[in-house]
Amino acid sequence: MTLIVRTLPELQRAIDPNKRIGFVPTMGALHPGHLSLIRLAKKHAEQIVISIFVNQAQFAPHEDFSAYPRQEIQDINLLTQEGVDIIYLPDSHTMYPAGFTTRIDVGPIGQILEGTIRPHFFNGVALVVSKLLLQILPDIAVFGEKDYQQLIIIQQLVRDLNIPTTIIPGPTLRENDGLAMSSRNQYLTPALRSIAPTLFSTLQDIKKSLEEGQMIADSLKKGIRHLLEAGFNQVDYIQLCHPQTLQQVTTHTPNARILAAARLGTTRLIDNLPVWIQ
Ligand code: AMP
Repeated sequence: MTLIVRTLPELQRAIDPNKRIGFVPTMGALHPGHLSLIRLAKKHAEQIVISIFVNQAQFAPHEDFSAYPRQEIQDINLLTQEGVDIIYLPDSHTMYPAGFTTRIDVGPIGQILEGTIRPHFFNGVALVVSKLLLQILPDIAVFGEKDYQQLIIIQQLVRDLNIPTTIIPGPTLRENDGLAMSSRNQYLTPALRSIAPTLFSTLQDIKKSLEEGQMIADSLKKGIRHLLEAGFNQVDYIQLCHPQTLQQVTTHTPNARILAAARLGTTRLIDNLPVWIQ
Protein backbone atom coordinates (compact mmCIF):
# COMPACT_ATOMS: atom_id res chain seq x y z
CA MET A 1 0.00 0.00 0.00
CA THR A 2 1.20 3.51 -0.83
CA LEU A 3 0.96 6.07 1.97
CA ILE A 4 0.75 9.79 1.16
CA VAL A 5 2.14 12.03 3.91
CA ARG A 6 2.50 15.80 4.02
CA THR A 7 3.82 16.58 7.50
CA LEU A 8 6.93 15.54 9.42
CA PRO A 9 5.08 13.69 12.22
CA GLU A 10 3.07 11.73 9.62
CA LEU A 11 6.28 10.91 7.73
CA GLN A 12 8.11 9.73 10.81
CA ARG A 13 5.15 7.56 11.92
CA ALA A 14 5.09 5.93 8.47
CA ILE A 15 8.79 5.00 8.42
CA ASP A 16 9.45 1.47 9.72
CA PRO A 17 12.56 1.55 11.97
CA ASN A 18 13.11 -2.17 11.37
CA LYS A 19 13.42 -1.85 7.59
CA ARG A 20 16.20 -0.69 5.28
CA ILE A 21 14.98 2.66 3.99
CA GLY A 22 15.62 3.84 0.42
CA PHE A 23 14.95 7.44 -0.61
CA VAL A 24 14.61 9.24 -3.95
CA PRO A 25 14.13 13.03 -3.79
CA THR A 26 12.41 14.69 -6.77
CA MET A 27 10.71 17.91 -7.81
CA GLY A 28 7.83 15.98 -9.40
CA ALA A 29 6.65 16.11 -13.04
CA LEU A 30 7.84 12.52 -12.97
CA HIS A 31 9.15 10.70 -16.05
CA PRO A 32 10.65 7.24 -16.62
CA GLY A 33 14.09 8.55 -15.51
CA HIS A 34 12.70 9.13 -12.01
CA LEU A 35 11.05 5.69 -12.06
CA SER A 36 14.38 4.06 -12.98
CA LEU A 37 15.88 5.58 -9.80
CA ILE A 38 13.02 4.11 -7.76
CA ARG A 39 13.64 0.65 -9.26
CA LEU A 40 17.33 0.99 -8.39
CA ALA A 41 16.45 2.05 -4.81
CA LYS A 42 14.26 -1.07 -4.48
CA LYS A 43 17.29 -3.26 -5.18
CA HIS A 44 19.04 -1.78 -2.12
CA ALA A 45 16.21 -1.18 0.36
CA GLU A 46 12.94 -2.60 1.73
CA GLN A 47 10.85 0.53 2.32
CA ILE A 48 10.93 3.24 -0.39
CA VAL A 49 10.25 6.92 0.30
CA ILE A 50 9.85 9.42 -2.58
CA SER A 51 9.64 13.13 -1.93
CA ILE A 52 8.14 15.69 -4.28
CA PHE A 53 9.06 19.24 -3.38
CA VAL A 54 9.79 22.14 -5.73
CA ASN A 55 12.45 23.82 -3.63
CA GLN A 56 12.30 27.60 -3.90
CA ALA A 57 15.75 27.86 -2.23
CA GLN A 58 17.48 26.61 -5.41
CA PHE A 59 15.75 28.97 -7.85
CA ALA A 60 16.98 32.53 -8.49
CA PRO A 61 14.25 35.20 -8.79
CA HIS A 62 14.47 35.22 -12.62
CA GLU A 63 14.30 31.40 -12.90
CA ASP A 64 11.29 29.15 -13.52
CA PHE A 65 10.12 28.42 -9.91
CA SER A 66 6.49 29.43 -10.46
CA ALA A 67 6.38 27.98 -13.99
CA TYR A 68 8.05 24.67 -12.99
CA PRO A 69 5.63 21.86 -14.04
CA ARG A 70 3.45 20.64 -11.16
CA GLN A 71 1.26 17.55 -11.72
CA GLU A 72 0.66 16.07 -8.28
CA ILE A 73 -2.26 13.76 -9.09
CA GLN A 74 -0.53 12.24 -12.11
CA ASP A 75 2.69 11.80 -10.08
CA ILE A 76 0.83 10.11 -7.20
CA ASN A 77 -0.82 7.69 -9.66
CA LEU A 78 2.53 6.81 -11.22
CA LEU A 79 4.18 6.26 -7.83
CA THR A 80 1.27 4.14 -6.60
CA GLN A 81 1.52 1.94 -9.73
CA GLU A 82 5.26 1.70 -9.11
CA GLY A 83 4.60 0.30 -5.61
CA VAL A 84 6.36 3.09 -3.70
CA ASP A 85 5.72 2.77 0.07
CA ILE A 86 5.67 6.43 1.13
CA ILE A 87 5.11 9.58 -0.95
CA TYR A 88 6.24 12.63 1.02
CA LEU A 89 4.70 15.91 -0.20
CA PRO A 90 5.82 18.61 2.25
CA ASP A 91 4.65 22.18 1.67
CA SER A 92 7.00 25.14 1.89
CA HIS A 93 5.99 25.85 5.54
CA THR A 94 6.95 22.32 6.56
CA MET A 95 10.38 22.69 4.94
CA TYR A 96 10.99 26.38 5.68
CA PRO A 97 8.80 27.42 8.63
CA ALA A 98 8.62 31.05 9.78
CA GLY A 99 11.91 31.96 11.45
CA PHE A 100 14.02 29.56 9.32
CA THR A 101 17.44 31.15 8.79
CA THR A 102 20.11 28.43 8.36
CA ARG A 103 22.07 28.28 5.10
CA ILE A 104 24.55 25.72 3.73
CA ASP A 105 27.56 26.62 1.59
CA VAL A 106 28.95 23.70 -0.42
CA GLY A 107 32.17 25.58 -1.16
CA PRO A 108 33.99 26.22 -4.45
CA ILE A 109 32.66 23.10 -6.22
CA GLY A 110 29.26 24.84 -6.22
CA GLN A 111 30.65 27.86 -8.07
CA ILE A 112 32.02 26.11 -11.19
CA LEU A 113 30.11 24.77 -14.27
CA GLU A 114 26.38 25.09 -13.36
CA GLY A 115 27.43 27.35 -10.47
CA THR A 116 28.85 29.99 -12.82
CA ILE A 117 25.37 30.42 -14.32
CA ARG A 118 23.35 29.65 -11.15
CA PRO A 119 25.55 30.75 -8.18
CA HIS A 120 22.95 29.96 -5.46
CA PHE A 121 21.70 26.73 -6.97
CA PHE A 122 23.85 24.09 -5.22
CA ASN A 123 23.63 25.77 -1.81
CA GLY A 124 19.84 25.65 -2.20
CA VAL A 125 19.94 22.00 -3.28
CA ALA A 126 22.27 21.12 -0.37
CA LEU A 127 19.93 22.80 2.12
CA VAL A 128 16.84 20.90 1.04
CA VAL A 129 18.66 17.58 0.57
CA SER A 130 20.24 17.88 4.05
CA LYS A 131 16.81 18.54 5.57
CA LEU A 132 15.19 15.65 3.70
CA LEU A 133 18.00 13.22 4.62
CA LEU A 134 17.81 14.22 8.30
CA GLN A 135 14.01 13.99 8.33
CA ILE A 136 14.03 10.50 6.76
CA LEU A 137 17.46 9.13 7.79
CA PRO A 138 17.46 6.65 4.88
CA ASP A 139 20.07 3.89 4.57
CA ILE A 140 20.48 4.71 0.88
CA ALA A 141 19.43 7.56 -1.40
CA VAL A 142 19.57 7.51 -5.21
CA PHE A 143 20.62 10.55 -7.27
CA GLY A 144 20.76 10.66 -11.07
CA GLU A 145 23.99 10.93 -13.04
CA LYS A 146 21.97 13.21 -15.33
CA ASP A 147 22.76 15.97 -12.80
CA TYR A 148 26.38 14.88 -12.41
CA GLN A 149 27.67 17.94 -10.55
CA GLN A 150 24.73 17.67 -8.12
CA LEU A 151 25.52 13.98 -7.51
CA ILE A 152 29.18 14.75 -6.71
CA ILE A 153 28.20 17.65 -4.42
CA ILE A 154 25.69 15.49 -2.52
CA GLN A 155 28.32 12.77 -2.05
CA GLN A 156 30.65 15.46 -0.64
CA LEU A 157 27.85 16.84 1.58
CA VAL A 158 27.04 13.51 3.27
CA ARG A 159 30.76 12.86 3.77
CA ASP A 160 31.42 16.31 5.22
CA LEU A 161 28.38 16.34 7.54
CA ASN A 162 28.57 12.64 8.53
CA ILE A 163 25.03 12.03 7.31
CA PRO A 164 24.68 8.23 7.61
CA THR A 165 23.24 7.62 4.12
CA THR A 166 24.95 5.87 1.21
CA ILE A 167 24.48 7.81 -2.03
CA ILE A 168 23.88 5.57 -5.06
CA PRO A 169 24.26 7.01 -8.58
CA GLY A 170 21.51 6.16 -11.09
CA PRO A 171 22.34 6.02 -14.84
CA THR A 172 20.73 8.63 -17.14
CA LEU A 173 17.59 7.43 -18.90
CA ARG A 174 17.22 8.77 -22.45
CA GLU A 175 14.53 9.13 -25.08
CA ASN A 176 14.95 6.91 -28.18
CA ASP A 177 16.76 9.74 -29.96
CA GLY A 178 19.28 10.12 -27.11
CA LEU A 179 17.86 13.21 -25.39
CA ALA A 180 18.26 12.84 -21.62
CA MET A 181 14.80 12.72 -20.03
CA SER A 182 14.00 15.84 -18.03
CA SER A 183 10.89 17.50 -16.62
CA ARG A 184 12.01 20.64 -18.45
CA ASN A 185 11.87 18.94 -21.89
CA GLN A 186 8.13 19.70 -21.90
CA TYR A 187 9.01 23.39 -22.34
CA LEU A 188 10.44 22.65 -25.82
CA THR A 189 8.37 23.47 -28.92
CA PRO A 190 8.29 20.65 -31.55
CA ALA A 191 10.89 22.53 -33.63
CA LEU A 192 13.28 22.89 -30.66
CA ARG A 193 12.56 19.32 -29.50
CA SER A 194 13.87 18.06 -32.85
CA ILE A 195 17.17 19.94 -32.30
CA ALA A 196 17.58 18.87 -28.63
CA PRO A 197 19.12 15.38 -29.21
CA THR A 198 22.12 17.12 -30.84
CA LEU A 199 23.43 17.80 -27.32
CA PHE A 200 23.86 14.08 -26.65
CA SER A 201 25.14 13.26 -30.16
CA THR A 202 27.69 16.08 -29.86
CA LEU A 203 28.91 14.69 -26.51
CA GLN A 204 29.20 11.27 -28.14
CA ASP A 205 31.24 12.78 -31.01
CA ILE A 206 33.56 14.53 -28.54
CA LYS A 207 33.95 11.33 -26.52
CA LYS A 208 34.84 9.40 -29.69
CA SER A 209 37.38 11.94 -30.91
CA LEU A 210 39.04 12.16 -27.46
CA GLU A 211 39.19 8.39 -27.18
CA GLU A 212 40.81 8.31 -30.64
CA GLY A 213 43.51 10.65 -29.34
CA GLN A 214 42.40 14.06 -30.70
CA MET A 215 43.41 17.22 -28.82
CA ILE A 216 41.04 18.10 -25.96
CA ALA A 217 40.71 21.82 -26.80
CA ASP A 218 40.08 21.12 -30.51
CA SER A 219 37.43 18.48 -29.81
CA LEU A 220 35.56 20.75 -27.37
CA LYS A 221 35.69 23.74 -29.75
CA LYS A 222 34.35 21.61 -32.57
CA GLY A 223 31.50 20.46 -30.29
CA ILE A 224 30.52 24.04 -29.43
CA ARG A 225 30.52 24.99 -33.13
CA HIS A 226 28.37 21.97 -33.95
CA LEU A 227 25.75 22.86 -31.30
CA LEU A 228 25.52 26.47 -32.48
CA GLU A 229 25.18 25.33 -36.11
CA ALA A 230 22.41 22.90 -35.10
CA GLY A 231 20.33 25.75 -33.63
CA PHE A 232 21.33 26.06 -29.96
CA ASN A 233 21.41 29.78 -29.20
CA GLN A 234 24.10 29.60 -26.52
CA VAL A 235 26.55 27.06 -25.10
CA ASP A 236 27.07 27.86 -21.40
CA TYR A 237 29.91 25.34 -21.08
CA ILE A 238 31.36 22.14 -22.48
CA GLN A 239 34.25 20.99 -20.31
CA LEU A 240 36.28 17.89 -19.75
CA CYS A 241 36.43 17.44 -15.97
CA HIS A 242 38.03 15.27 -13.31
CA PRO A 243 35.28 12.78 -12.29
CA GLN A 244 35.40 13.68 -8.57
CA THR A 245 36.78 17.22 -8.19
CA LEU A 246 35.15 18.43 -11.45
CA GLN A 247 38.26 20.51 -12.07
CA GLN A 248 38.93 21.08 -15.75
CA VAL A 249 41.41 18.53 -17.14
CA THR A 250 43.71 19.49 -19.97
CA THR A 251 45.76 16.30 -20.13
CA HIS A 252 44.81 12.67 -20.43
CA THR A 253 42.91 11.50 -17.32
CA PRO A 254 41.27 8.11 -16.81
CA ASN A 255 37.50 8.24 -16.40
CA ALA A 256 37.17 11.98 -17.05
CA ARG A 257 33.67 13.38 -17.61
CA ILE A 258 32.45 15.80 -20.28
CA LEU A 259 29.83 18.13 -18.79
CA ALA A 260 27.75 20.44 -20.95
CA ALA A 261 24.94 22.98 -20.70
CA ALA A 262 23.38 24.74 -23.68
CA ARG A 263 20.31 26.82 -24.36
CA LEU A 264 17.55 26.10 -26.84
CA GLY A 265 15.22 29.06 -26.88
CA THR A 266 14.61 29.80 -23.20
CA THR A 267 15.23 26.20 -22.06
CA ARG A 268 18.61 25.15 -20.67
CA LEU A 269 19.58 21.54 -21.30
CA ILE A 270 22.39 19.76 -19.44
CA ASP A 271 24.04 16.43 -20.13
CA ASN A 272 27.29 14.56 -19.46
CA LEU A 273 29.24 11.48 -20.50
CA PRO A 274 32.26 9.57 -19.17
CA VAL A 275 35.37 9.52 -21.40
CA TRP A 276 38.22 7.07 -21.20
CA ILE A 277 41.43 8.66 -22.48
CA GLN A 278 44.47 6.38 -22.44
P1 AMP B 1 14.44 16.42 -10.48
O1 AMP B 1 13.02 16.04 -10.18
O2 AMP B 1 14.66 16.89 -11.87
O3 AMP B 1 15.04 17.31 -9.42
O4 AMP B 1 15.27 15.08 -10.41
C1 AMP B 1 15.16 14.17 -9.33
C2 AMP B 1 16.21 13.11 -9.50
O5 AMP B 1 16.00 12.43 -10.73
C3 AMP B 1 17.64 13.66 -9.53
O6 AMP B 1 18.48 12.78 -8.80
C4 AMP B 1 17.95 13.65 -11.00
O7 AMP B 1 19.33 13.54 -11.27
C5 AMP B 1 17.21 12.40 -11.45
N1 AMP B 1 16.96 12.41 -12.90
C6 AMP B 1 16.48 13.45 -13.64
N2 AMP B 1 16.44 13.11 -14.94
C7 AMP B 1 16.90 11.83 -15.02
C8 AMP B 1 17.09 10.90 -16.10
N3 AMP B 1 16.82 11.22 -17.36
N4 AMP B 1 17.58 9.66 -15.81
C9 AMP B 1 17.86 9.32 -14.53
N5 AMP B 1 17.69 10.14 -13.48
C10 AMP B 1 17.22 11.38 -13.71
